[in-house]
Amino acid sequence: MHPTLRTFTGPLRQDGGGRGRRESVRAGENESLMTKSLPLIFTAPRRGRPPPHLADLGPQARRDAVIAAGAPAFRADQLARHYFTNLSRDAAQMTDLPAAGRAEFVDALLPELLTEVRSISCDDGDTRKTLWRAHDGTLIESVLMRYPERITLCVSSQAGCGMACPFCATGQGGLERNLSTAEIVDQVRLAAAAARDGALGAPGRLSNVVFMGMGEPLANYNRVLAAVRLITAPAPHGLGISARSVTMSTVGLVPAIERMTRENLQVRLAVSLHTPDDELRDTLVPVNDRWKVDEVLAAARGYADATGRRVSIEYALIRDVNDQPWRADLLASTLRRHLGQLVHVNLIPLNPTPGSQWDASPRPVQDEFVRRVRAGGVACTVRDTRGQEIAAACGQLAAANKV
Ligand code: SAH
Repeated sequence: MHPTLRTFTGPLRQDGGGRGRRESVRAGENESLMTKSLPLIFTAPRRGRPPPHLADLGPQARRDAVIAAGAPAFRADQLARHYFTNLSRDAAQMTDLPAAGRAEFVDALLPELLTEVRSISCDDGDTRKTLWRAHDGTLIESVLMRYPERITLCVSSQAGCGMACPFCATGQGGLERNLSTAEIVDQVRLAAAAARDGALGAPGRLSNVVFMGMGEPLANYNRVLAAVRLITAPAPHGLGISARSVTMSTVGLVPAIERMTRENLQVRLAVSLHTPDDELRDTLVPVNDRWKVDEVLAAARGYADATGRRVSIEYALIRDVNDQPWRADLLASTLRRHLGQLVHVNLIPLNPTPGSQWDASPRPVQDEFVRRVRAGGVACTVRDTRGQEIAAACGQLAAANKV
């Protein structure tokens, strides 16, 4: 059974009407048909804290928690090995722990955080979306994708999202709560185990993690960064995924990008730009009210300079809204000015959300857009649209499963 997605109607932004727009009138009409204005929410409601878990704790706190559970400190490392290396929280397999009280001990330190509600596959079994229920009933989704040369997990960082982007199903649903560090890490642990055990066909190794599921990761900064450190720490203290294979995708929270720049990580940064001009971006990515295109790209440049890594620019191509040839030219020149060669554009054909009248651009329009961006000296590729049949494609992860 496929999850249904939220529909939405009403004006895009109540304050947006009177500002003589440069883009086509048609785009304006479209906007007003499809979306409602939502407030930006930066601070998640403090509710439903998950039980503390080994993956929420630093090394000393882990030992303290083990001692508090009545075991010697060295058992913390044994548990970590089971969790991060064997990808397991199954007490029956932990024969190096004393049998008496083992199940209770494991439950105390590695409580079950996510229970599978269901998984559905498509793309000939290469894409698999899983709906998880957290301890408080919160529903989140993650998507596992096999490519010829890698296996990628798209993880959620929040239940819902407070950034209110009008074309995104999750954004239209609002923010429910932040996920804990362990809830984020556990999505990766479970996906790595699923890939190993053949959930995508032949057994494989989870190699990449992208923070492109539900939520704005940089609005849940501390927990997301702690999760990144555990995802990338070598076994047995983490999941051992290369930091270069982890992508942090953001709407462009400038102070958080600057903070991430100081963390000294090799993680890839992806910025959801979606248009090079402030006028339209104010409506497509409402947080643009706070941090304008120039500021976001300056912060991205700071990150690129500090890491030496090219920044990805995400651009959901929307028919008659942001797909005009002049916008492709402006995108290329703006990116060249700010980032030189340290940039790459990732075009995402829009996945229309039900109830929205926005659509992906026709193929010739998309091709011309790509051609112009490249002609402007900026690398540009089109993202394949995985998971469309099962509402697992970009922006489709909405917790509309509440039944
Ligand atoms: N909050 C983060 C992660 C969001 S999901 C961010 O905004 O970057 C990852 C990407 O999918 C973002 O670029 C987002 O804008 C894009 N996206 C959301 N809904 C989409 C849709 N319906 N079609 C295509 N891309 C979409």
